[in-house]
Amino acid sequence: MAQAVVGDDAFCDDPQVAELEQRCAALLGKQDAVFTCSGTMSNQIAVRVLTRPGDEVILDELAHVHYFESAATAAAGAVLRPVRAMRGVITPGDVRGAVGSKARGRIYASPSLLVVENTIGGHGGAILPLDALRDLSEQFRPDLKIHLDGARLMNAAVATGHDPSEYGCMVDTVSMCFAKGLGAPFGSVLAGDRETVERARVERKWLGGGLHQAGFMAAAALYALDTNITRLNDDHDNAQLLAEMLDSVPGRPLCVLPVETNIVQIDVTSCGVGPGELASMAGEHGVLILPWTCNTVRAVTSLEVCREDIATAARVLTNLATRSRVPVAS
Ligand SMILES: *Cc1c(COP(=O)(O)O)cnc(C)c1O
Repeated sequence: MAQAVVGDDAFCDDPQVAELEQRCAALLGKQDAVFTCSGTMSNQIAVRVLTRPGDEVILDELAHVHYFESAATAAAGAVLRPVRAMRGVITPGDVRGAVGSKARGRIYASPSLLVVENTIGGHGGAILPLDALRDLSEQFRPDLKIHLDGARLMNAAVATGHDPSEYGCMVDTVSMCFAKGLGAPFGSVLAGDRETVERARVERKWLGGGLHQAGFMAAAALYALDTNITRLNDDHDNAQLLAEMLDSVPGRPLCVLPVETNIVQIDVTSCGVGPGELASMAGEHGVLILPWTCNTVRAVTSLEVCREDIATAARVLTNLATRSRVPVAS
């Protein structure tokens, strides 16, 4: 980052940003791509580019665009139509159900966009199977546009062995984040065809995301692409190991949901303390986990966590959960 030769991206003359955008477009199987500040910004730009105010957006209720961005999406004028998909994997039946659930017509909201996610954060980093995406793409495009929220797409690509472009070529826009598993300090990208990305650059500016010396951040993202993709496998192995260690505790006070990538979602119902309390006690022992739902916490492995840390985390969490559960003898 310190040595990056930067220009001013507001004038489209930053060499690092240009290289990053071209590389990401190729990686994601698209004509062009635009560097954005965050995953949320990429998603919000996609909604703004692919819908008109009043259009309906079909998505899983735990999708980031619904669960965390519904207020932002309201500002875009889109109407969210969440469905409850099994493990977050939307099927053609889910889409047909949403479309057919109410009166449609010229004066009513009409569905124009389907948002899918891979990996699926709200479902513990589950993978959206390529075949499931193909079904949606073949059955509904071009009547519905598809945006793939690929903040964690590289985790899915590494875990399945599929090329990211295999996912990208089946959707209208696809995003990817550098500041999640890829470990960079900043940024995301939104890829699509040339015309869509041209429009996305305008929306990015309107959202205040037109950065000047963005090359410093692009340099970090390029470094992440060079060095941090294949090592995502280590994170997946570490998440699996943590799950196995927690699952092997007698009585299973911490109940682990199936782990597919780098997220370990843990049901704490039978451990006697709630998610918030467990997270704050674990934090005092240097183990950072996130209270997630009313009965789960979330642990995420990354390049900052090594195998020995996993053993420590398992020990700390197990001790806290067991101690909380067993009543103290008087
Ligand atoms: C983290 C995340 C986002 C949002 O990214 P930010 O950079 O935090 O705005 C969007 N979608 C998914 C699936 C994510 O995991």
